[in-house]
Amino acid sequence: MSVVVAYTVIYACCFLFGACMFSFLNVLVYRLQRGIPYWKGRSICPSCNHTLRAFDLIPVVGWFLLRGKCRYCGAKISFRYVSVESLGGCLSCLCYWKYGFTVSAAFTFAFLFLLTLVSGVDWDTMEIPNGFVLGVAAIGITGWAAGMEPDLGSRLIGTVCVSVPMLLLTIMIEDAFGGGDIKLMAASGLMLGWKLTLFAVLAAILTGGTYGIWLLATEKKEKKEHFAFGPFLGVGMVAAVFIGEPVLKWYFGLLVI
Ligand SMILES: [Zn+2]
Repeated sequence: MSVVVAYTVIYACCFLFGACMFSFLNVLVYRLQRGIPYWKGRSICPSCNHTLRAFDLIPVVGWFLLRGKCRYCGAKISFRYVSVESLGGCLSCLCYWKYGFTVSAAFTFAFLFLLTLVSGVDWDTMEIPNGFVLGVAAIGITGWAAGMEPDLGSRLIGTVCVSVPMLLLTIMIEDAFGGGDIKLMAASGLMLGWKLTLFAVLAAILTGGTYGIWLLATEKKEKKEHFAFGPFLGVGMVAAVFIGEPVLKWYFGLLVI
């Protein structure tokens, strides 16, 4: 019984930590696009400019307590904020589940944090800033230096195994991929190694393709129009981090038999 209680407390703390970090991520996504320094001042309601108090900013729970509305002016608060916070909580729990309290868990969480930041900005602006890409690459290199799997060879192959074919495709077919997507895949390869990078891009094409077909089927977008692919690369990489290895093992196991 006490073990159950202990794990419940640990996972609750992990969730709270992740939700708080991703609550800050929401602030970053909002402020970076508007050129507001992210370290400056307190959070305000974008509708009525009222300064929000600590009580209004409790991750996840706060949104439900306020029923998704600003306490001061009643303006709707997007469900996106609470979903991103919940995602952060879940990813933090998954990092603990996979790695425990280790350096690998910290690096993986930092990687997922940056990926979500990239996805949020890409979704809104269709752009992936170079600074974020460099951040992802830096996490990959320091993760390797700290002794994380995979080895350097796999990481270096990971840098080119997806980004170079994407680049070639983009040279042949104009606008096949955005420059930001290609750079992001090169940087992520340094974190994931080549096997998981391949897994990530396959998962991204599968989810992004499904979304694209849905957009066309519901006539929300014309064939020629683009949608941000970065978020799908992010989804692919999250899948790669947590289920990539067992899925690959299972798949190649099938081939051997
Ligand atoms: Zn307000």
